[in-house]
Amino acid sequence: MSEFISDNIDQFKKKNKLNTHLNAIVEDLSENPITGRNISGRLFNKTIAIKENIHIKGVKIKCASKILNNYQSIYDATVIEKIKDAGGSILATTNMDEFAMGSSSEHSIHGVVKNPIDQTRVAGGSSGGSAVTVATNMVDIALGTDTGGSVRQPAAFCGIYGLKPTYGRISRYGIVSYASSFDQIGIFSKSIENMVSMFESIAGYDKKDSTSANKPINNYNFKNKKYKIGIPHEYWGDGLDSKIKAKLEQFLDKLKSNNHKLIPIKMPYTEYSIATYYILTTAEASSNLARFDGVQYGYREKGSNHIDMTTKTRNFGFGDEVKRRILLGTFVLSSGYYDAYFEKAQKLRRLIQQDFKNAFSEIDILLTPTVPSIPFKIGEKTDDPLKMYLSDIYTVPMSLAGVPALNIPIGKLENDLPLCIQATGNFFNENELFNFAEGLFK
Ligand code: GLN
Repeated sequence: MSEFISDNIDQFKKKNKLNTHLNAIVEDLSENPITGRNISGRLFNKTIAIKENIHIKGVKIKCASKILNNYQSIYDATVIEKIKDAGGSILATTNMDEFAMGSSSEHSIHGVVKNPIDQTRVAGGSSGGSAVTVATNMVDIALGTDTGGSVRQPAAFCGIYGLKPTYGRISRYGIVSYASSFDQIGIFSKSIENMVSMFESIAGYDKKDSTSANKPINNYNFKNKKYKIGIPHEYWGDGLDSKIKAKLEQFLDKLKSNNHKLIPIKMPYTEYSIATYYILTTAEASSNLARFDGVQYGYREKGSNHIDMTTKTRNFGFGDEVKRRILLGTFVLSSGYYDAYFEKAQKLRRLIQQDFKNAFSEIDILLTPTVPSIPFKIGEKTDDPLKMYLSDIYTVPMSLAGVPALNIPIGKLENDLPLCIQATGNFFNENELFNFAEGLFK
């Protein structure tokens, strides 16, 4: 093993020891890192952590759920193959909300992930563990999944970059499905350079994922540029914490004085985003999670017959939030309610997407907050699902539309908690987001 790599692994071990109380890591793989040992690869010498819902052959992939307890993966996700090909070293799997359903990484059989800046607060979710491994410098880059904000929101709570690419940009082959028409693998890093190295290594068409896009990946090069920036007022209203709003407005003023053009725009269908998202994602989840029946994977309860066994397995195997979503999803898909909920939500999804298409006819990027508040206290929202759902208010619209969005750390709030902004780009234009983010600090 190269000297560099063994230094980096030592660093991981030291930092991991210092940070075990944060509960970010599920499985420490550093004694036997998963790597393709390609010394000229793009990710050679990079240390990487992977959310526990992405298949790595021979590793336990539990999705933080009792129902997958002891399930060991029998294959590599496409992204894992690509990381190996590029010479990266995977050192850990990370903690998350059960089946990626949540915004706080509290709904997990492994326990709560804590925010490294203030341990009484959540790290965000559902990819909270991955965010923490990067924020604490345990690893250079981590992968998560983002269905409605699960990479961007924990990145904002931990003060690092978090990218949700365009839907279809990165193969979903080998991630455990939550809501397949939304799910995307996302990337956490502390630098745009690391973000780009990972993005260019894992993005691209994959014949194993029929929804992956056959679009070229243009190599990213920084270009100095003045931006036409859309500011949709629907994202800057009452739901936003007033201290965050004041600081973000100062940041916008600075952009203006640096000769970027700020253009007020309207996105009228934004207000339906949360309702639309929670109808469509629960519908998809109820179908996707039907496969956990006690027969094929992981955990099984004893029962007097097949139905009794499956009922008991699902009853004891799933946590409350997952059950809530399966029930909701089954309800919105039921024949009496299909038109009233699911079909209406599909139509709204199209209108929300149209809002984004209209916006990008006159602007380069959109700027909005990533999160409406500072990281909340552990336990603060676990008994109030609606409050929890509303913490995704600024991230779900992009997931409904399928456009790429990047959380960018831009400063600090009084209590040392991070201040972040979300840049959203046109379809397949992730490079515009990298370029904007990099330009801020030139
Ligand atoms: N918090 C959102 C949800 O619970 C988003 C989760 C995600 O992106 N995986 O669905």
